[in-house]
Amino acid sequence: MNIFMKKILCFVFAAIIFTGCTANAVPAEKNVFAMDTYMKLSAYGENGEKALNAAAEKIAVLEGLWSVTDEGSEIYAVNRSGGKPVTVSPETAAALALSLQISEVTGGALDCTVYPVLAEWGFTTGKYQIPDEERLAALLENIGYENVSLSGHTVTVPDGTQIDLGAVGKGFAGDVLAEIMAENGVTSALLDLGGNIQAIGAKPDGSPWRIGLRDPFGEGIFAALELTDCAAVTSGGYERYFIGEDGERYCHIIDPASGKPVRSGLASATVVGDSGGLCDALSTAIFVMGLENASDLWRSQPDFEMVLVAEDGEIYITEGLENSFHLMGEFSAKTVTIIR
Ligand code: AMP
Ligand code: MG
Repeated sequence: MNIFMKKILCFVFAAIIFTGCTANAVPAEKNVFAMDTYMKLSAYGENGEKALNAAAEKIAVLEGLWSVTDEGSEIYAVNRSGGKPVTVSPETAAALALSLQISEVTGGALDCTVYPVLAEWGFTTGKYQIPDEERLAALLENIGYENVSLSGHTVTVPDGTQIDLGAVGKGFAGDVLAEIMAENGVTSALLDLGGNIQAIGAKPDGSPWRIGLRDPFGEGIFAALELTDCAAVTSGGYERYFIGEDGERYCHIIDPASGKPVRSGLASATVVGDSGGLCDALSTAIFVMGLENASDLWRSQPDFEMVLVAEDGEIYITEGLENSFHLMGEFSAKTVTIIR
């Protein structure tokens, strides 16, 4: 063997050892409690830890901007502005712009002004109650995303209207964290923001991430999604709800048309796409819209896929997920309807 061949062989062995090491690499990990949820972040590569520290700091900053209860937050300032314009940060303006855009696209199924109604049902305090119809009708007068005016970084809402970015915040944060990973040269990371998944690249060995989808009727996982470099966000009635004196179940997602907790026939809605913010906004809206309207929306919008579980247990996926969706365990034998 000549010296040239030896050099090539050395290079090949080094490459095998190197990729082997990366495939078995241990990720940096960080657990964060923020935005009312437990977040689990893991990132591979030499800058993983540094990137996750920066990510945790950023989450705290965003929470500080968007909290509805923190007196120092920008949303708090908007909600007490008495109709006067309030200048907000670029992040708040962008998250609000996204929310308003998806409100338009979904015919108002997503509406960042439902907050006073949500509070009346007790979802902000835990003092749950079924409001009377008159009270709801009075509150609905101030509900409507069309009342929110956003011009550059300036937000104006009429006195009596309040906004809340709860339906888009975690997903939007996922996009911001994806940028932080890129800035730090992290190409393989899994960011679980309380069920809002932001997958950066693939696993270190190049295979896709496997994301478990929660069974909305139980504690386990009913399916896995194989994902690379995208977001997956779930909205579900099981996440937060109360049982009323009438024995009915009331969930934390409000139908802006009625001011009542949604009954759309869906138990959960998962949206997969490039942007965490878009997926988060759409998952909430789709949960409100129900199977038929959500399917029509999907047919008219090319940039997302979805997994829907109906209240009757039926499972629906859009055709773009046919190869990446896998039923798990006791659910393996179930029929899945493909939306085309
Ligand atoms: P998500 O878990 O992303 O579906 O967001 C649910 C949260 O968004 C709720 O806890 C409320 O704070 C808020 N919310 C509830 N209903 C709506 C709605 N129709 N449009 C916008 N935000 C909503
Ligand atoms: Mg959402």
